[in-house]
Amino acid sequence: MSSTPALSAPSAGAPFDTTTIERRALGEHDVLIDIKFCGICHSDIHQVKDEWGGSIFPMVPGHEIAGVVADVGGAVGKFSAGDRVGVGCLVDSCGECEYCLAGEEQFCTKRAVPTYNGRGYDGEPTFGGYSQQIVVSDRFVVNIPDGLELQDAAPLLCAGITTYVPLKHWHVGEGTKLAVIGMGGLGHVAVQIAAAMGAEVTVLSQTLSKKDDGLRFGAKHYHATSDRKTFSELASSFDLILNTVSANLNVDAYLRLLRVDGTLINVGAPSEPDSFNAFSLIGARRSIAGSAIGGLPDTQSMLDFCAQHGVAPQIELIGAHEVADAYDRVERSAVRYRFVIDVATISR
Ligand code: NAP
Ligand code: ZN
Repeated sequence: MSSTPALSAPSAGAPFDTTTIERRALGEHDVLIDIKFCGICHSDIHQVKDEWGGSIFPMVPGHEIAGVVADVGGAVGKFSAGDRVGVGCLVDSCGECEYCLAGEEQFCTKRAVPTYNGRGYDGEPTFGGYSQQIVVSDRFVVNIPDGLELQDAAPLLCAGITTYVPLKHWHVGEGTKLAVIGMGGLGHVAVQIAAAMGAEVTVLSQTLSKKDDGLRFGAKHYHATSDRKTFSELASSFDLILNTVSANLNVDAYLRLLRVDGTLINVGAPSEPDSFNAFSLIGARRSIAGSAIGGLPDTQSMLDFCAQHGVAPQIELIGAHEVADAYDRVERSAVRYRFVIDVATISR
């Protein structure tokens, strides 16, 4: 066991304490990582505030982890001290079920173990990346390619994989007309990845305030959803819509923007249910779908893809004392476009 400084929320919505947490002793297949940077995902906020229910406290959030290997267990061949590595949303799975064997550990039938706000198979709570060290099984560690800065790689471990996987699954490529709803952490990465895949990308944002950035990220078109004309002008025009919004939307209004056989893919995870009218689907054989994070092989491919195509999040690097403000700005859609914590500041 070793102890490491961490930011810990004692109860739902309470301010973070600077504390120390215990990490397990290095097992044969484990990697000890000196965390350098951890992104702030809106999921951290949902969970710290217990908006999804079932949160476990005290909670150390953080599943966008980038750091350097400090030590490895005796059976680890893939990593050695000094390697630049990342850890995303998962830290364990059974490794034997059909989904684990297919590299889609997020669907593990035994249940995948989340990086924080979960329990390992030993029943102990998991603690995430708002801390300075973590011990993770080597199956859940990925290499950060040379072309990516560590602090830029961090947000890709959730925002990148969560958007890359559905874009790949629904065959986004040359000629795909794709709309991305919400240009926050996930959305601004989705725009870049989809554009790099060859899609014609439209951003649907609440206002036009981020239009220049959206076009710089690779979007061809940018519309404000506060302008009602947007919904008439864009009727039946998209093959796919990727919804990255953390709040409920008028689903029917967005379904009507899809062409025949179009799909609305939800990755945003509001706490309250959405509703829709069946006629919005029936009239054009449309689908509503969802997608959760991604497995480890896809996580490595996504990082390699981003390095190769120059995809990188636009981040604001902050110290530990700025996390509360950052949460506030994320909730007000005032994030440009991902906060990343310099975890060295946690002990100061
Ligand atoms: P974020 O940075 O807050 O981005 C969400 C964006 O949605 C905002 O920037 C804003 O964009 C738009 N938005 C916010 N409130 C809105 C409202 N009331 N109406 C319309 N648009 C609104 O959050 P994120 O970190 O990207 O995460 C987005 C969601 O995905 C969260 O619910 C998170 O929990 C979820 N998530 C899911 C997965 C998964 O596996 N499926 C993984 C990670 C995160 P504009 O200002 O451009 O309108
Ligand atoms: Zn996340």
